[in-house]
Amino acid sequence: MIKVESRKNQRIAVLGMGLSGMASAKALENSGANVTVWDDNSTQREKAERAGFKISNPEFIDFSSQDALLIAPGIPLLVNPHPAVSAARAADKPITSDIELLIENCGRARLIGITGTNGKSTTTELTAHILAEAGLKHQAGGNLGLPALGFKHPCDQETLVLELSSFQLDITENAAFDIAILTNITPDHLDRHGTMDAYISAKRRIFLRPRVRGSSVAIISIDDPHSAEIHKKLERNNDWKVFPVSTKGKLINGVFVKNGILFDACSGMARRICDLNPISVLQGEHNQQNAACAYAAAMHAGVSEKSIVRGLQNFKGLPHRMERVGKINNIELINDSKATNVQAANIALNCSNDVFWIAGGRGKGEDFSPLAAHAKKIRAAFLIGEAAHDIAKILPETVPVTISNTLEKAFEHAIEAALRFSNAATILLSPACTAFDQFENFSERGNIFRAIAEKIKSGAYNERI
Ligand code: ADP
Repeated sequence: MIKVESRKNQRIAVLGMGLSGMASAKALENSGANVTVWDDNSTQREKAERAGFKISNPEFIDFSSQDALLIAPGIPLLVNPHPAVSAARAADKPITSDIELLIENCGRARLIGITGTNGKSTTTELTAHILAEAGLKHQAGGNLGLPALGFKHPCDQETLVLELSSFQLDITENAAFDIAILTNITPDHLDRHGTMDAYISAKRRIFLRPRVRGSSVAIISIDDPHSAEIHKKLERNNDWKVFPVSTKGKLINGVFVKNGILFDACSGMARRICDLNPISVLQGEHNQQNAACAYAAAMHAGVSEKSIVRGLQNFKGLPHRMERVGKINNIELINDSKATNVQAANIALNCSNDVFWIAGGRGKGEDFSPLAAHAKKIRAAFLIGEAAHDIAKILPETVPVTISNTLEKAFEHAIEAALRFSNAATILLSPACTAFDQFENFSERGNIFRAIAEKIKSGAYNERI
C-alpha cells in the first residue's frame, strides 16, 4: 500500500468506508496518521469497526482539532453536501481525496490520468495492457480495480494509470498529471452534479494543473462539442502539449482513425499505425476512440510503435462492455451492463441490428429520448426497474414494449420474441441506467445476464420457453 508520508502524525477523518475509504484509512494509519472513520451505512461502519478503526460520526467531530477530512467519491460535495463536509468547511479545514494523497506521495512515478463520460475503464485497461506488453513497470486502478492508496508504493521508474470519475475529480484539488486523457463528454450523473455545466467543470479538472509545465501531455478526443471546447481553450495556453484525437476526420496534429485505420499525425505528417478492423474487442467508433487515446498515451510514455500495435492486437477487452456471451440459433446475446447512461446505450444500439432490447434500472436524471432514434431497428423492448415507464414513454408505438420488471423475466420475454423472429437478431442488455435499484452494481447485473444466457445455451430453460 502507499506510504502516505505527507500526512504522518496528522489527524484525519475519513468519510465513506467502501473499497477506497477502507484502503485510504489503512494506508493513513500505517503511515502514522491518527485516523477516525465514518460511514452513514451501518453495515460499512461495522466492517470498519471489525477492521479495527476508531469510529466517530464526523458531524459531531470538532474539526478545529482535525487536519483534514478525506472523503470517498460517493460523498455529496457540491449539491446537498454531506453535513461533515459543511462542518469541515466551517472550520476551514481542507477536504481531500485518496487520489490527491497518492499524487502527494508517489515521488517521480509517471502519472497517467484518464477521464471521460464513457470509455474510461476500457482506455485505462488498454493503456495498462500496452505498458505490460512493452515490459514497463506499471499499476492501474483508481475508479476501477485497485483504489489509489491500495497501490503498492511505486518506484520512480514506474507508471501509474489512474481512471478518474467526475466525482473523484470534483474532490481533488491538487491533482497534476504527466499525461491526462479526456475520452468524451455527454450528459451523465446530472443527479449528482446538478447541471451539465457543473459536470463539465468536474471533467475539465483533469487539466487543472500539468505535472511539468509545458511538457505534460493533454490528449483530448474532440468528437463531441464539450470536449472540443475544452481542447480549444487548452490549446491557447502553453501549460500543456495538447494532442487532439478523432474518429470523425483527418487531423493534422493528433491521432485519428479513418475507416478503422489508426493514424498518428502528432508530428505533422499522418503515418498509418495499424488496422483496428480485425480486432474483435475494439469494434465500433467508440472503441476506436479508446484505442486512439490509449495509443497516444503509450506513445508519449515512450512505448515503441511495435509494442503498442502488439498490445492493441492482443487486447482481450473487458466484461460487461458489448460482451458477446453466446449465441442461441441465430440470436446473438450481448451483455452491455456497463452502459449506465444514455450515450453508452446509444452506442450499443448503433452497433446492432434487429435488436430485442433489455433496458432500464435507476435513471440518473437524463433524458432518454435520444434513444428513440433507434426505433427502426428495435424489434421489441423489455423494460426493467425504476425507469421502465420513463423509457417506454419515449419509444414510438411501432416498438412493442413489455414492462418485464426483472432481468430474469425480460430475458425470458426477449428470447421468446427473438425465437419467433425468423431473421438473425440480437438480444442486447444495454440499460442506459445504473443497476442500483435491483442489483449491487452493474457487474452483478451483467453476471446474472451471463448466467441466464449459459442456462439457456445448456437447454435448462428450454422446457419453459
Ligand atoms: P467507463 O469506465 O467510462 O464507464 P467503459 O469502458 O467501462 O467506460 O464503458 C462503459 C460503457 O460505455 C460500455 O457500455 C461501453 O460499450 C461504452 N463505451 C466504451 N467506450 C466508449 C466511448 N469511447 N464512447 C462511448 N461509449 C463507450
